[in-house]
Amino acid sequence: MGVSPYTGKVLRVDLSTGKSTEAPTAACAERFLGGRGIAAKIYWDEVPPQVKALDPENRLIFATGPLGCYPAIGATRWVACGKSPALSPEHFTYSNFGGHWGAELKFAGYDALVVHGKADKPTYLFLHDDKAELRDASALWGKGAIETRETLKAELGSSVKVVTTGPAGENQVALATLLADNDASGSGGLGAVMGSKKLKAVVVKGARKAFPVASPERFHELLDTFRLLRGGAPPSGEALTTGPQTKKDVCYGCIGNCARRIYQAKNGLKSKFMCQASFFYQARAEKYYGGKTEVPFLTAHLCNQYGVDTNALEVMVLWLWRCFQAGILTDESTGIPLSKAGSLEFMESLVRKMALREGFGEVLARGTLKAAESLGPKAQAELTDYLTLSGERSGYEPRLYLTTGLILAMEPRRPIQQLHELSLLMGRWVRWVKKEPGAYLSTDAVRAIARRFWGGELAADFSTYEGKALCALKIQDRQYVKESLILCDCLWPIIDVENSEDHVGDPAFESKVYSAVTGKETSEAELNRFGERIFNLQRAILTREGHRGRDADTVTPAWFTSPLRQHFVQPDCLVPGKNGEPLCRKGEVFDRQKFEKMKDEYYALRGWDVATGLQTMSKLADLGMGDIGEGLKNSPGGPGVA
Ligand code: SF4
Repeated sequence: MGVSPYTGKVLRVDLSTGKSTEAPTAACAERFLGGRGIAAKIYWDEVPPQVKALDPENRLIFATGPLGCYPAIGATRWVACGKSPALSPEHFTYSNFGGHWGAELKFAGYDALVVHGKADKPTYLFLHDDKAELRDASALWGKGAIETRETLKAELGSSVKVVTTGPAGENQVALATLLADNDASGSGGLGAVMGSKKLKAVVVKGARKAFPVASPERFHELLDTFRLLRGGAPPSGEALTTGPQTKKDVCYGCIGNCARRIYQAKNGLKSKFMCQASFFYQARAEKYYGGKTEVPFLTAHLCNQYGVDTNALEVMVLWLWRCFQAGILTDESTGIPLSKAGSLEFMESLVRKMALREGFGEVLARGTLKAAESLGPKAQAELTDYLTLSGERSGYEPRLYLTTGLILAMEPRRPIQQLHELSLLMGRWVRWVKKEPGAYLSTDAVRAIARRFWGGELAADFSTYEGKALCALKIQDRQYVKESLILCDCLWPIIDVENSEDHVGDPAFESKVYSAVTGKETSEAELNRFGERIFNLQRAILTREGHRGRDADTVTPAWFTSPLRQHFVQPDCLVPGKNGEPLCRKGEVFDRQKFEKMKDEYYALRGWDVATGLQTMSKLADLGMGDIGEGLKNSPGGPGVA
């Protein structure tokens, strides 16, 4: 018998009137599954394109997935979505969080929370005992995100879960983050949206403790397999993420052995320190101090407290340093010790001035792209191949992994989960090429994975642009399912397996877990169909907001002309070439003409109009999205559908 993995309710809170209402989750979930999918549908319905990111009419949407609250399967991630002031032009965006807040929201009785309007004074929302209470947050306004969270927990009980923003959010800085329990932080500029609504925090306290499983026996068998495949995965991450000063700090119910740890500095400060945040200031600080110090940790902690995105800040620091070296900006003209980049003093000054919009911080608060634009062509010329069109660190770009050109071109921001599906696997293959101890992912295994997951062996031959369009499409559909269920990027998809003979994972594992939990038999293809639908919904949103087809589907211009020199994770720039032979992509550019041909192939595979790159009414109807097509017909700027 089928059971529902949803609470069945979406809560809407209007901060302008103080009123709250509930709506059935099923209205969105039947077609768009959960998480990113239902958030995108709510956004489509409620945020017309003319609404600006910091307008009260913008929505701040928090959503969980149908598999959230089922412990051990790495599915208790949650997302925040809304229009972002960090993007130029402003667009729909998304942010993915770990920790416990998402599970608590579901235990409190809601699959999603939609906040709109603007409070007349600093306010926090407290969801408890089936009540949505708006409370005065005047005493918290101006406080750091960590301090706010801990103050609320001290007042309301340590079991409540809090998501908040720091001074950067209050001051509507483009780089502002949201910060939740267990230092789960989310980027994309949504902290500024929260601040614009005078909303300091959302506190949740759930009464429920579990959700039913339709086939418990089958679910436990799958869990055993999952533990075998993923429980022993070694921690990833660098520097201070291991050692006696760290303590494991996992997301709700997770059995993964990832690098999610709390680090305690010598001065007693404690904070999560992993992934990008753990190494973004490392090289610069190491050079400045002549060796390893706690400065990168202290910087990450500082960013959490002020509510500043370390990924966006990394790009800003790079650009500021280049402007300083070119004599465009100085210590005196900015009031920031640019000459001391790498020091704690530099970061304290930069982060504080930007978060509080003090002096030159007012310019920086607009984000790197807009700050450069306001300073003129010389400052803009220092923005080169190290960033994406969304102003984020370039990372896994197409001069190295051709396929990622299509992936990046279709998204409002850097879609790290999609990029990881390819790049993490390639990293493991490079270890095998270099004969590193423990490396297991051979060329044969990569080619077998390409056949099973990416539509064919050509997807793993980077000497050609062929086969990449189908690969991009398959990655997108699967990753949109992942972002909607919502599964953790450290554990899913199960694409390669260390402890098996062929090392090839199971692309149907997600659908098996979903079927066991819900009792609704759902195949891999059916689940991926949800992914295709959600991806098409996001495409429609972006089209309606001005991202028009072929011309808009592009990447950083410098990648077409400036040869690849290095890659921060993979210095040798190796990929499998013809017959799996290692191929070095150093010195290569991303070929513009071949990219256009890839787009032809991609649009045809998607069922879109090849000439314009616009979605078609017939394809949308085929996906059961005729209503979205009708909406696109009336887009501002003319019909956004062929
Ligand atoms: S693997 Fe790590 S980041 Fe992922 S859900 Fe588990 S604890 Fe959280």
